[in-house]
Amino acid sequence: MKNYKVYSELKKKQKKRRDKIFKRTELSFSDAYSEVKNASAQDFEEEGEINNRLDIDFIIEQEETQKSSNLRDSLVDWSIKNKINRSAVSSLLKILNKYHPELPLTYNTLLNTPKTSDIKTLDSGDYLYIGLKHNLNFILNTLNEMPDYIELDICLDGAPIYENSKNICCMWPLIGKIFNINSKPFTISLFTGQSKPNDINFLLKDFVYEFIDLSKSYTFNNIIIPLKIRSIILDAPARSSVCGIKGHGGYSSCPKCYVPGFRYENKTIFSNDSDYEKRNNEKFRARDDKEHHSHYSILEKIVDLDMVEDFPIDYLHCCLLGIMRRILDIFFGFKGFYDAKTKHRISLKIAMYENQQPSDFQRRLRGLEKMNLWKGSELRTFALFVGPVVLKSELQKEHFDLFMYFHLILVILVDKTFCFKFNDLARTLIQNFTENFITIFGQKYMTYNFHILKHLPDDVLKYGALDNFSSFPFENHIGILKRSVKSPAKPLQQIYKRLMERMNEVPEKICNKRKQKLDKQIDNTTFLRLNIDDITLGYNEKDSFVQDIDGRIVKIEKFVIEGETVYLHGVEYVEKANIYELPFESSDVHEFKIKNQNFVPCKINLNVLYRKFYRFSINEDFSLLFPMTPISKL
Ligand SMILES: [Zn+2]
Repeated sequence: MKNYKVYSELKKKQKKRRDKIFKRTELSFSDAYSEVKNASAQDFEEEGEINNRLDIDFIIEQEETQKSSNLRDSLVDWSIKNKINRSAVSSLLKILNKYHPELPLTYNTLLNTPKTSDIKTLDSGDYLYIGLKHNLNFILNTLNEMPDYIELDICLDGAPIYENSKNICCMWPLIGKIFNINSKPFTISLFTGQSKPNDINFLLKDFVYEFIDLSKSYTFNNIIIPLKIRSIILDAPARSSVCGIKGHGGYSSCPKCYVPGFRYENKTIFSNDSDYEKRNNEKFRARDDKEHHSHYSILEKIVDLDMVEDFPIDYLHCCLLGIMRRILDIFFGFKGFYDAKTKHRISLKIAMYENQQPSDFQRRLRGLEKMNLWKGSELRTFALFVGPVVLKSELQKEHFDLFMYFHLILVILVDKTFCFKFNDLARTLIQNFTENFITIFGQKYMTYNFHILKHLPDDVLKYGALDNFSSFPFENHIGILKRSVKSPAKPLQQIYKRLMERMNEVPEKICNKRKQKLDKQIDNTTFLRLNIDDITLGYNEKDSFVQDIDGRIVKIEKFVIEGETVYLHGVEYVEKANIYELPFESSDVHEFKIKNQNFVPCKINLNVLYRKFYRFSINEDFSLLFPMTPISKL
């Protein structure tokens, strides 16, 4: 017994040492990782020393536990890797159980799969906690190489499941994603009910405690993997309930600065000045601005979480569903500036260019008559690509210029190079955009979304281009969860069953290398199409316009393998002009006008390919090119 006491004290000491490593904020993940590795080696030595003094029975018990845990892990790996069906694994477990009574009897227990009986029925709805570790283990099992650390992105969002005359049902899933291995989103917990639970901390509690526990000592296949929350991505209403701050209609509601709000025409609006003092984590936690807070957030228990900076602004909600939709409403809404004829002409143009939309876009852009139904991805396509082309000759100049300011802000912040290179320029454009908006349409539009837009360049400096921290992947995941519900009875059980079925399928291996596939073969060495990850190049005109790292604009005709190298054969457009000159030259952000007939043959190495263009063939003479996300890692 004395030895056992020594052993548990040693464990406490080791745990303290690890905690200290993870709490040292100056350490990078990789440093923390190597420190933990060194600590593990030290633990091993210390344990060896103590073990020599332990009772022999105790050692045997330890070894047995270790053995069964290894056998259990091996069985999990084996069943997933070899696509063994659940009932076969359960049958095997029943046989093995005679010789290894410590092993579970069913597949679900082997995988620690949560059960439908784990669903808690509350006054306001049903709740199921699936768990973080359960998902992390599942994802890490799909990797060929273990990551040195895990950076988690977390999202909590509400969505309606169904609505009929009798009742309404909504869900609030807590979703995670491992950013540094670009994992698919996964469901950590799920609540369904007629309305959100009164206490949002209830939805976060299980996650917070599990995360705190795992961040101290998450191990997979006996490897310690440091775990950190990189970002928590929320829309404005979710942010106010999750962080316990005033809602976006409140006066002290900006989560990033101390800008005061005031009431104007029945709306809360904000000053257009950009130089208000910034909020920070220390002051947030010290409650320096009492007007900002509404309740305590259980997330504050996570000591490493920055309650201000780790909650970036999501451009899907702020810029697309917020500002872009507001602009469309002012122009083409019920009491909009433009008549039905103009709206119809613009819709015809959208339809005319529809077949020029690159194949990478999963959703086609619908006409303006459906604009109230446009999804986030349609608003994105309009703001970044289609809008400048179809609005040009239809809007008054000051309205078109205003739209172009917004277009350029997004063009800069969505691009992984421009977002750093032109970060200050984006700030100036945002200030000009909001000033002009107020001048043309009035102060009443300086609402929450227009104000927090000013903070977006700061988040970009921390997280990179906008798609690095947007809720787009989470929204897609919510769509999958919603489609799991086929009838109004017990929606949570239905979603749970579909989730578990998917988790029981053999997961696709996540590979860090890019997937490149040549396609549409002509002969032994010639191909017409190339897919790089989800990007399609060649074969169709709409997928053929690209730029190389030297800025050359090329139309792909074919791909030819010569030895070990793939070459792109096509034509280079030698004459390129600006689409506009102000507020800066369009070529600065890689937007070009090219002459359709002015080209020379060319051959370039695939390694120097930089990005693809969204190309609009305006008429026989010329085309307009708008830059898509760079393909190259440069
Ligand atoms: Zn602010």
